[in-house]
Amino acid sequence: MLIVMKADATEADIAEVERVITEMGFRPHTMPGAGRTAIGVTGNSGPIDRVRFESLNGVAEAIRVTKPYKLVGLDLRPERTVVRVGDATIGGEEMAIIAGPCAVETREQVFAVAEAVKRSGVRFFRGGAFKPRTSPYAFQGLGEEGLKILAEVRDRFGLKIVTEAMDETGVELVERYADVIQLGARNMQNFSLLKRAGRSRLPVLLKRGLAATIEEWLLAAEYVMAEGNYNVILCERGVRTFAQHTRNTLDLAAVPAVRQASHLPVLVDPSHGTGKNYMVTPLARAGVAVGADGLIVEVHDHPERALSDGPQALTLAQYEQLVAEVRAIHEVIAPAPVR
Ligand code: PEP
Ligand code: MN
Repeated sequence: MLIVMKADATEADIAEVERVITEMGFRPHTMPGAGRTAIGVTGNSGPIDRVRFESLNGVAEAIRVTKPYKLVGLDLRPERTVVRVGDATIGGEEMAIIAGPCAVETREQVFAVAEAVKRSGVRFFRGGAFKPRTSPYAFQGLGEEGLKILAEVRDRFGLKIVTEAMDETGVELVERYADVIQLGARNMQNFSLLKRAGRSRLPVLLKRGLAATIEEWLLAAEYVMAEGNYNVILCERGVRTFAQHTRNTLDLAAVPAVRQASHLPVLVDPSHGTGKNYMVTPLARAGVAVGADGLIVEVHDHPERALSDGPQALTLAQYEQLVAEVRAIHEVIAPAPVR
């Protein structure tokens, strides 16, 4: 159920609708919009009687939601969600770029990359302290030590930190040191992790699972939002197919598909989406051209020495070139408004 308030509904009208929903044992999710406020109802197992709401002051209509997701959909919020991270945004007019190494390896490595990211004018820095590796013998990340290095980067360069949490304890640690919680492809359907991230005050970057349909991915986002965290950013990072020329198949059609179904911002990850250095920039250009709200890219000061994902890491010079190229494309497809 979705309750749409009249444009002139008062705060008190909204509070009364929220009270009735809570009294019925359900949860209200209030989404203020440009023209009207909508209130999503979750927690009900069957249909709710519409009449109960339609008689309340300020209610325009009560709509039954037929899609499997309620909160991520455009019915609830026709305007696009802009996720604010301090003074930076994801999903707004500005193209968001998140750049940095796959993994935090050393302070020197991280600072060398962060310096280049800062110089490029990009606002977000990535780097994994907890790495989900296929082999238990591969480098697993520095853990909390890595998060401390990232926090130093935040202090020194003013970059916003995006880093992965692999479990609920990891979310707690990431909350202490970073700005955005990344949930990895392999954890897209780790429901207890999704729920924990849903109770966080930090925005969540939710990667698409290796074999997830768009609907499964949106329902994973719904898990986070149903807990009350509405700051979710989706990220297309490629899916498994028969293709052998790339590490994953970057599904760029997912970008318009998601934008057609949801108000949430969507980023493209051309690094994991291709796995190959020479393909990253061409696919980054394509991602921006197809309408993504931004990119997440892996950069290393010495890719040949990287402890994880070296083959897909851009050098600092390649990264600088990528930023210039995607900015030019973004300027053509979404010109900055003249103020
Ligand atoms: C990463 O961003 O380094 C990562 C592990 O990504 P994914 O979860 O998409 O594989
Ligand atoms: Mn990686």
